[in-house]
Amino acid sequence: MSLTKEQFITEFKDIALKLYAAPLDDLSTQQLYQALALLTRSYIGQPWAETKKRYDQEETKQVFYFSIEFLPGRLLQSNLLNLGILSEVEAGLNELGLRPQKIFDAEADPGLGNGGLGRLASAFMDAMASVGMAGNGNGIRYQYGLFKQAFVNGYQVELPDDWMRNGFAWETRKENRAVTVKFGGWVELRPSRSGNLRVIYHNTDDVLAVPYDVAMVGYHNQVVNNLRLWSAEAPINAGTDFTLEQKERINQITQILYPDDSDASGKQLRLRQEYFFTSAGIQSIVRHYRRTHNSMAGFADRVAIHINDTHPAMAIPELMRVLMDDEHVSWDEAWRITLKVMSYTNHTLLSEALEVWPIDMFSGMVPRIYQIIQEIDRRFRLVFVPQFGQAMIDRIAPLGNGQVRMAYLASIGSHAINGVAPIHSELLKKDVLHDLYQIFPERFNNKTNGITPRRWIQIGDRPLSHLLDKKIGTTWRKNPLALRQLHDFADDTRFLDDLNAAKAENKRALAKYIDQVVHVKVDPDAIFDVQIKRLHAYKRQLLHVLGILDAYLAIKRGEKRPKRLHIFGAKAAPSYVYAKEIIKVMNAVADLVNGDPDVSKYLQVVFLPNYGVTMAEKIIPAADISEQISTAGKEASGTSNMKLMSAGALTLATLDGANIEIKDAVGDDNVEIFGLTEEEIAGYYQRGDYHARDFYDQDPRLHAALDMLVNGQIPGIETEGRDIFNSLLTYNDEYFVLADFESYLAANERLDKLYQQPRIWAKKALANIAESGRFSADFTVQRYGREIWHVVAKTPEDDHEA
Ligand SMILES: *Cc1c(COP(=O)(O)O)cnc(C)c1O
Repeated sequence: MSLTKEQFITEFKDIALKLYAAPLDDLSTQQLYQALALLTRSYIGQPWAETKKRYDQEETKQVFYFSIEFLPGRLLQSNLLNLGILSEVEAGLNELGLRPQKIFDAEADPGLGNGGLGRLASAFMDAMASVGMAGNGNGIRYQYGLFKQAFVNGYQVELPDDWMRNGFAWETRKENRAVTVKFGGWVELRPSRSGNLRVIYHNTDDVLAVPYDVAMVGYHNQVVNNLRLWSAEAPINAGTDFTLEQKERINQITQILYPDDSDASGKQLRLRQEYFFTSAGIQSIVRHYRRTHNSMAGFADRVAIHINDTHPAMAIPELMRVLMDDEHVSWDEAWRITLKVMSYTNHTLLSEALEVWPIDMFSGMVPRIYQIIQEIDRRFRLVFVPQFGQAMIDRIAPLGNGQVRMAYLASIGSHAINGVAPIHSELLKKDVLHDLYQIFPERFNNKTNGITPRRWIQIGDRPLSHLLDKKIGTTWRKNPLALRQLHDFADDTRFLDDLNAAKAENKRALAKYIDQVVHVKVDPDAIFDVQIKRLHAYKRQLLHVLGILDAYLAIKRGEKRPKRLHIFGAKAAPSYVYAKEIIKVMNAVADLVNGDPDVSKYLQVVFLPNYGVTMAEKIIPAADISEQISTAGKEASGTSNMKLMSAGALTLATLDGANIEIKDAVGDDNVEIFGLTEEEIAGYYQRGDYHARDFYDQDPRLHAALDMLVNGQIPGIETEGRDIFNSLLTYNDEYFVLADFESYLAANERLDKLYQQPRIWAKKALANIAESGRFSADFTVQRYGREIWHVVAKTPEDDHEA
């Protein structure tokens, strides 16, 4: 859209006056934010309505992306950017004597996700709108997002995240689109006169699912898609009044996000959440379709439903239920439609993270869905036992060991199953879903994750953005592959110096932020070494910590080294004791290092509490080194690796997840690879001959670093240090931290050396930025669109040009 600075100033003053009956200089920052958000929303309404109308008129095939998490980050700047009016608005605010960043900072960050999985879902929403794909999100409107993390005496403390305290400016309540979701009770199958089975529900607990729609604004293309988040409410007009307790029980369904990022928690309420948003989504899709169609015959040509991991896997039996029970479609026809509509992304290689539910709990909560899964299970066995044998089919049938096995259900009921990086997709076929691959090889495919450079570069990294505009023009903003033009300037020393200057500016800004948040004065000239991600044993923050302890000891011995600042951001699941112990140790190490003036000349450590999207936007532009050091074969893809690469950080990595593709993209000279490969680790597992203690006994540096955990040198970690020490030595180091220690240190020493040559470093940073465009989620969703969903992207401009 177009908007001049002057128009904006007039409209902003006007809306503020109407809202608050006060002139601008009387308003709080929060009020200024609310006024600006409301004004921005008023610009979105029309293209939003027009996009909907166009999809309906043209009968566009639509994608529905089901995800129990969305992690959108703040939306004001992103919406202004995508509308194409960010500069005008900022100029207008400046002219009014207001500080744009201060107003942007008044927005709460909707933490409706744990980490990578939720962030991916939101990147896809932004990307689908930006490439002109009819993509809808379907999720949960959690009253409380992921807990707010604080440190008390170095321990993680979890506080509620009341993110909607000031409302959520971007949502629209659609009570006229509410649907009823039924739980519990029992099911009667009664033959009807027409010969169909009539399904009658008795004694169900009904919950009203009320949708709140959030606009997903496409980049400079007048497309606005829909993210539909469901909220649980007590039904109205049910002939019964609900007690306060009953209402409370219903409201609980969408009250809080579960804070486990890769562990199936087995909790009743979680299962309730899963059926709630899945059923509501399916019902609303079918209802919308039926408004303009007499039968369900053509449904699969108009609708693609994707499940982001298995939390929405009940979409498969739920769609079967609606097709058969409500639409009177036969089993065979319903199954044909369902298979054609559904597709599934697997997100994990950790077998403990594969979702399973006890049959008792499951069948009591959703009896009709359970019946349908029983029938899916029966038919699956009937067809495939003769061909593949009882033993194999027992392993992978949807029901087994007294459990409903969601990954198997999802695989059997989807026409496409994808992993999120080549190594991950291969390991799915080889390991995790090997038996299913034998039966359905054609379903398996890879779709490497992606990120949105609009948020991470255009919004997050202004200094780099301006520099890129000056050097290669602005086409990279629409098509990030244009960043490849940077290769032409790999030997342009002026430009390399400018790149370093942009990085230095970002580092000064982050240093200021660090001082505000944790009151540590850091040296902006240090190497900024960043590890930001959930705290998990397989991600190996512990390896990074042991590296810091080794540096500490070396400096204490009198060694001089280039100054490094280690920056961590990481939340641990509240029930994950080991991860929380690592957090305590990280904080204790930070105190030890920062508090020792001999050491802090060369080494500083900060652990920023409450890592989230907004904090990531501040950290990433300032990073020199990106630590992606998971045990090979454990990280499905990773996306912070892509974000940091796009900011010109050099990746210090194991050959895991998308690190491998980053290496292939930039070439061996422009990443720092270390550690065991997945094959080597699989070899240890197979032979059973990994002996962590040998590494401890044979490597004096490792020995000394590990001893620090238990010898009292780090104050306050008696219990935690001992537990971690034991996990590595007594319990044989499940994640091969000790095996990779030596090569990790060697890789770090190479980086230290390299940093002494700023232009050579900058040249490598340039290569990373130049090749980061391929990881744009715009391309990822286009691959999903072509190969899985069979949808074509189109924007209003395409019509113009046609
Ligand atoms: C990108 C992102 C993640 C994912 O990080 P990984 O290192 O890939 O696990 C998690 N949390 C937030 C807030 C992110 O922005």
